[in-house]
Amino acid sequence: MKPKKKKKSMLFNENIDLKQRLFVLNLIVTLTVLAITFIEIIFTDEFLIDSIMLAVVMAFIVLVGIISVKTGKVGIGGVIIATLMSFGYFPITFINGGGINGDAPLWFIFNVLFVSMVLSGKVKIVFYVLQLLTAAACYFVGVAYPDIIHPNTYMMSHIYSFTALVFISIAVSVVIGLETGLYEKENKRSVKQKREIENLIASQNQFFSSMSHEIRTPINTIIGLNEMILREDVSDEVAEDAANIRAAGKLLLSLINDILDMSKFQSGQMHLTNVTYYTGNMLSDIVGMLWIRAKEKKLEFKINVSPDIPAELVGDEFRIKQILINILNNAIKYTKEGSISLSVQCERKNNDTVNMIYTITDTGIGIKKEDIPYLFTAFKRVDETENQHIEGTGLGLSIVKQLLDLMGGKITVNSIYTKGSTFIIEIPQKTNGEKQVGEFDYEKNHHIAKKGEYKQKFEAPDAKVLVVDDNESNILVVKKLLRATKVRIDTAVNGVDALGKTLNDSYNVIFMDHLMPEMDGIECFRKLRNQVGGNSRNAKVVILTANAGEEERELYRKEGFDGYLVKPVSGDDLESELYRLLPKDLVHVKGNSEEIINETISWMRVGQKKKNVVITTESVADLPKEILEKYDVQVIAHKVQTVEGTFKDGREIDTAGVLQYMEDKTKKILPLAPDVKEHESFFAKQLSRANNVVHVSISGKIENSGYPVAKEASRAFDNVHVFDSGHLSSGQGILVIEACKMAEEGLEPEEIVERLEKIRSKIHTSFIVDNLDFLARSKQVGNRTANFVKSLMGRPVLVLKRGKMGVGRIYFGSRKRAWKKYIDSTLSNMGRIDRSILFVTYVGISKRDQDWIRSQIVRKGKFEEIYFRQASPAIAVNCGAGTFGLLLKDKG
Ligand code: ADP
Repeated sequence: MKPKKKKKSMLFNENIDLKQRLFVLNLIVTLTVLAITFIEIIFTDEFLIDSIMLAVVMAFIVLVGIISVKTGKVGIGGVIIATLMSFGYFPITFINGGGINGDAPLWFIFNVLFVSMVLSGKVKIVFYVLQLLTAAACYFVGVAYPDIIHPNTYMMSHIYSFTALVFISIAVSVVIGLETGLYEKENKRSVKQKREIENLIASQNQFFSSMSHEIRTPINTIIGLNEMILREDVSDEVAEDAANIRAAGKLLLSLINDILDMSKFQSGQMHLTNVTYYTGNMLSDIVGMLWIRAKEKKLEFKINVSPDIPAELVGDEFRIKQILINILNNAIKYTKEGSISLSVQCERKNNDTVNMIYTITDTGIGIKKEDIPYLFTAFKRVDETENQHIEGTGLGLSIVKQLLDLMGGKITVNSIYTKGSTFIIEIPQKTNGEKQVGEFDYEKNHHIAKKGEYKQKFEAPDAKVLVVDDNESNILVVKKLLRATKVRIDTAVNGVDALGKTLNDSYNVIFMDHLMPEMDGIECFRKLRNQVGGNSRNAKVVILTANAGEEERELYRKEGFDGYLVKPVSGDDLESELYRLLPKDLVHVKGNSEEIINETISWMRVGQKKKNVVITTESVADLPKEILEKYDVQVIAHKVQTVEGTFKDGREIDTAGVLQYMEDKTKKILPLAPDVKEHESFFAKQLSRANNVVHVSISGKIENSGYPVAKEASRAFDNVHVFDSGHLSSGQGILVIEACKMAEEGLEPEEIVERLEKIRSKIHTSFIVDNLDFLARSKQVGNRTANFVKSLMGRPVLVLKRGKMGVGRIYFGSRKRAWKKYIDSTLSNMGRIDRSILFVTYVGISKRDQDWIRSQIVRKGKFEEIYFRQASPAIAVNCGAGTFGLLLKDKG
C-alpha cells in the first residue's frame, strides 16, 4: 500500500512540476496495460519469446522512467520510451501478432495517445509523422509480404483485439480522467495564487499609501519650520544650510510621490479623475510654478499658446499638470544655459474632442540617440556620468509615459546630444463649449506667482482663521507660515474641539486636517455645515492633509470642500489659498504681489501657432527667394570645396565666384553635402516651429548627395521624414512646391511622402550644357571624349532618369541651334505638360540670351509662371557656364 500512496502523493504533489507528474501518470497507465497484456500472453501465447520481449520492454520503461524522473529530464525519457514503442515494440507486435487481425492497430492508436500526452513541441509533430510512416510500412508489409506476418487463429485474433480494446479504452479514460483532475487542480491553484498576489499588491498599495501619509507629516514640520528660518535675517551659512534642507525635503517628497504613483500603476489602482478645467488657469499654474526656477538658472522661459485652444476642457487636470511639470522640470534641470520653451497647440479630432499638443524644448545637454529607448524605463537614468550631480530618481518619465498611456495620449522625444531636447506630448481631451482661450491673458490669473521664493502677498489683520490638526507641530507650521499676513489664528486638535470653537466664533477660513482622533475632518466638516446656532456655517473650509492619493482628492471634491492642500504645505500655498478665499474687503494687497505677476508676464510670449508639418530642402533645390518665402521653406546650404577652403553654397560663395574659379582648370573644386551633425541641428531647429518635418532631398543616386546624410540625421528624430526627390536643382524644387501645397492642405507627413512618390516620375529634369569639361573634371567621362565632343561642337543634354544623371542626347552646331532643338524637343508635347510653372535654371547665361530663351519657350506655348533662376554654386560646379535646363512637371 505504501508505494501506491507515495505515487499518488507524487501525482498530486503541487511542488512537483506538472509536466513531470503527467509523465509519471502516463507511464503508470502504460505499464499497467502492458502488465495485463503480459499476463494475457502468458496464458494464451505459445511463444515464450513474446512474453520475454514484453517483460524486457516493461523493465526498460521502468528504468528509463525512474532515471528521467530522478534527473528531471522527463522530455528525454519520453522521447526514448516513445522511440522504443513506436519503432520497436509495436511494429514487432504487428508482425508477430497477426497484423491487422490482432491487437496491433489498437496499440498504434494507444501509442499516438502516449506521444501526444508525453511529448511536446516540434518533437511531437516529428513523432506523429514517423508513427504514421511506421504504421504505413507495417500495413504495406502486411499486404506485400503476408508470409512475414505471423497469423493468429480466427478465435485468437478476436480475443486479442477485444482484450486490447477493453484495456486500452480503460487506460485512455483513466489517463484523461486523471489528467483533467490534475489540470483542474492546477487551475484552482493558479486562481488562488492570483487572488493572493492581488491581496498582496493591495496591501502593498495600502502600505505605500499609509507610509506616504506618515512621512509627509514630519516633512511638513521640517519644510515648514525651515521656511521660517529662510524668512529670517540669518547668517549666510545658516541660510545655505536651510536652503539645502529645503532642497532635500523637496526631493524626498517627490520621491514619495513617485513611489506612490509607481505602486498604484503596479497594482492597477491608478485611475483618472476627469473634471472640467480652465485651460488658461492650468497653464498659468504650471508657468507660475516653474518660471522662478528657470529664472534662478538664468534661463529664458518662452511660452507660446495658440489662441484657438478651447478655454474649457474635460480631463484629469491634476495628472496633466503632473506630466507637464515633470517634463518642464527636466528641461530646466538638464539645461545649463539658453532657454526652455513651452508651446501649446491643439488639433480638432471631432466635434467634441481635441488633441492637445504640448511641445517642450530646451537647449540643454540633450540625450544620446542610443539612450532614448530607455528614457521611459523606471529607475533608469541615462548618461549617468554626465548627470551624476543632477538630482533625480529616474522615475519621472516612466510615470509620465504610464499616465499618457492611461489617457490615450503619447509622448515623442527628439534630442540632439549636447544641443537640446524636444518632448512632444499629445493628449486627447473632450471640450466643454466652443469658447477659445484667445490671446491668453496671464495677468488675469492670480495663481501665477504661487510657488516662487517667498514674497508676501497681502495682510488681513481682521480675518479670522481656524487651524484644526491633531499634530501640534503641524499647527505650529501653519501659524508661523501665516504670521506675516497678520490674520488672527485659532487652533483646535480634533473635530470635536473645532466644533466647540465654530459654535461661538465666526471664522472666514478653516484649514482642516483629515485624519484625527475622536472626530475626523470630514465628519467635522459635515457637522459644521449644519451646526445649529453655529457661527461658522458659511466659513470656507480647506482640507489640509497628508493624503495625496487620487481617491482622497476625489472624495474631498465630492464632499464639497472649498480647497485642498497637501502637506507639506508651503507659505505661498497657504497665502494663495487664503487670498483666494478671504472676502476682498479684508485683504490689503502688498505691492510685491503685482510686481511678481508683472515680472512673470515679461517672461511670456503669446505667439504664433506651431505648424503641424513644415517642408524643408537644400540650397541645391534652386528655388527663388519669393517661393521659399511664400511657402516658408527653410533651406540647408550645400557647400563647395576648393583648395582655398570650404564655402557654404550661396552664402559664402556665389555662382559667379564658382564660375570664375572654374576657369582655371587646374584648380580642383567639389560640391559637398552638409554632414550629419549639420543636418541634425537643422532638423532640431525646424522642430521648434513644427511638429513634423518633411525634408525633400537631392537625388540619393548622384555623387555627394545630401540624401544619405539627411536620412542618417533623421534617425535621431521621430518625426523628420526625408524624401529622396530623385532629381536635383529646380526639378527637386518642383517637388518641394508640391509638398508645400500638400502641407497647406493639412496632409499628414506620411501622406505627403506617399503622394510625392507618385509625382516624382512626372518631373523632368534636364540641362543642355556647352561641353563635357565639367564631367571630365569630375572624372565622369575621359578628357579625350570631352575634347572630341567639343571639337565637333557637340552640346550634350544631361537628363536625370531614375535619380541618375546621364547624357541623353547631343546636339551639334552653334549654341543657339542646339538650344532651340533642346527647347523644341523638351516642349514638344505641350498637351502633356503642367503649364502652371516652368523653371529655366541656368549657369552663366546673359540677360539677352535669357530673353531669347524665353521667346523660344513662349513660341511653343503659354506658362502661367516662368522662373529664370541662376543655379546654386554647388550645381554650377557640375555643369559650368553656358548651361540651362527646362524643369517641368507633367499634368495630373
Ligand atoms: P530623473 O529623476 O533622473 O530626472 P526622469 O525619468 O525624469 O528621471 O528622466 C530620466 C532620464 O532622462 C534622466 O535621468 C536624464 O538622463 C534624461 N532626461 C530627461 N529629460 C531630459 C532633458 N530635458 N534633457 C536631457 N536629459 C533628460
